[in-house]
Amino acid sequence: MVSFCPNCNKKLGNLKTGLVYRTKDKRFCSIKCKKQYGKKQKIDNKEYKRKCNRCGKVWYSSVLKEKELERELKKNRSYQVATGFGMLAGSWLAAGAGMQTNRNKNALQDSLNKLRKCPNCSSITYKEKIV
Ligand SMILES: [Zn+2]
Ligand SMILES: [Zn+2]
Repeated sequence: MVSFCPNCNKKLGNLKTGLVYRTKDKRFCSIKCKKQYGKKQKIDNKEYKRKCNRCGKVWYSSVLKEKELERELKKNRSYQVATGFGMLAGSWLAAGAGMQTNRNKNALQDSLNKLRKCPNCSSITYKEKIV
């Protein structure tokens, strides 16, 4: 009997051990296959569908991408608190690092804002739903 890997569709041997790598609810034909398909979360291909309240334009934005940006922003925020203490202690180096972080933070916030703005009229009021 010939079977195929449910993840990568590779033809499997006749051995029962064709799908040897497991996670909680999935089986994979190889380590490579597991790496590629195992970590995939449902959120991967989700998108925000947004409709502008002002002009009615509909646009899409990747949920994953925004989550990543938010995570980076959060990281930068906590880092800033830490360097804040450094500045109190009079550390010139820490102050420099803080400024660098600020720039990164602004860039991140910028990209996030861009994704959340109507591409047509730049309005930031919209209805959103995840599709
Ligand atoms: Zn496979
Ligand atoms: Zn608009």
